[in-house]
Amino acid sequence: MIGIGYDIHRFIEGRPLILGGVEIPHDRGLDGHSDADVLSHAVADAVLGALGLPDIGFYFPPGDPACAGICSLEILERCRALADESGLRILNVDATLIAEAPKILPHREAMRANLGKALGIQPARVGIKATTNEMLGAIGRREGIAAMAVAQVE
Ligand code: MG
Repeated sequence: MIGIGYDIHRFIEGRPLILGGVEIPHDRGLDGHSDADVLSHAVADAVLGALGLPDIGFYFPPGDPACAGICSLEILERCRALADESGLRILNVDATLIAEAPKILPHREAMRANLGKALGIQPARVGIKATTNEMLGAIGRREGIAAMAVAQVE
């Protein structure tokens, strides 16, 4: 079974930029109730979708004080636990980040390691790609970062 996930967060001053559990040097971070790790959120929704479960907002409601500032890798660990409970195994995930900046490639291996560890799969089974939005629209104006992902379970 496969699942799809998408997320977007806007940039804000004064927060660290966390993508795939990696703090990336940048002049702004992403706004959000949790650590706003847009990559992990998209991957989480892809895994939940593949499991036939409701979305990330169901398990981690945006207004829930217990979720404030949480590390999104914990969300992925919860997804892995839900897969275990469903008797299903995560095979691979593949994601694309859409951002004009910063450069993702230097951090790719660290992100793959973090996501793989949280999901209980080898980093080789975690695809992370990045593209710009060719300066089009909100992402093109550097107002935020979006991510899309797919996941496969059996
Ligand atoms: Mg999100």
